[in-house]
Amino acid sequence: MQISFEGKRALVTGAGKGIGRATALALARCGAEVTAVTRTQADLDSLTQECSSITPVCVDLADWKATETALQNVGPIHLLVNNAARVNLQPFLEVTPDQFDQSFNVNVKAVLHVSQIVARGMKARGSGGSVVNVSSQASQCALRNHAVYCATKGALDMLTKVMALELGPHQIRVNSVNPTVVMSERGRLTWSDPEKAKVMMDRIPLGRFAEVEDVVNSILFLLSDKSNMTNGVTLPVDGGFLTC
Ligand code: NAP
Repeated sequence: MQISFEGKRALVTGAGKGIGRATALALARCGAEVTAVTRTQADLDSLTQECSSITPVCVDLADWKATETALQNVGPIHLLVNNAARVNLQPFLEVTPDQFDQSFNVNVKAVLHVSQIVARGMKARGSGGSVVNVSSQASQCALRNHAVYCATKGALDMLTKVMALELGPHQIRVNSVNPTVVMSERGRLTWSDPEKAKVMMDRIPLGRFAEVEDVVNSILFLLSDKSNMTNGVTLPVDGGFLTC
């Protein structure tokens, strides 16, 4: 199956590292004009060195006003990937209001905001579009020390569904991918303890963690016209974790 995004303009958040970076590069390889949004300039510098056609935007998505300003001249966008997120692992009884707010600001509120900005343009142009939110298996399964992260991703899944409901009539499809542990740099770091990794891996019928490419492929599928009738789904990319 060949996927081409020739003539399309895409925006990817959290494109400095990991899944977001790989998605931005894959979209560019498939012919899209890509805007990469993240908050660390050095990551954008190395990304544009790797792929000079990518347009960088440096902003902290937790800052509503700064995001509004940074994206005001971004132009028409056909494909949006809301990927940026933060993870703060804390036992439930030690969760602080500050960590709660920071996580919800990036993982949920910024998704709503960036999507509003992009979808208003899609609606005004009347030519539809596709949005993919990067969620997690943690949205649907309780994980120890993940109270806030699980809550943000659960909220993100419902946001995905309501966006699909309200934007569908404008031919804007909204779906999410819900990966298990992904072997991005962060994933490798977080799951480097073999004992901790084994407990999780034992619950995945395919017996392995996801590679970044596994997630990118599912994102590209949901962005593309190969999934034209798919709207409002939360697609596990989890080797079967959520079936158990
Ligand atoms: P990552 O390597 O940590 O990359 C996240 C990117 O988002 C970074 O470039 C980061 O920039 C950026 N970002 C974070 N906060 C931001 C903010 N406030 N404003 C702008 N950019 C911001 O993460 P990943 O492992 O690729 O994960 C990407 C997505 O997949 C996330 O939504 C995550 O929840 C989801 N996911 C990951 C896994 C996994 O095991 N890795 C599993 C399931 C789901 P800085 O580095 O500068 O902060």
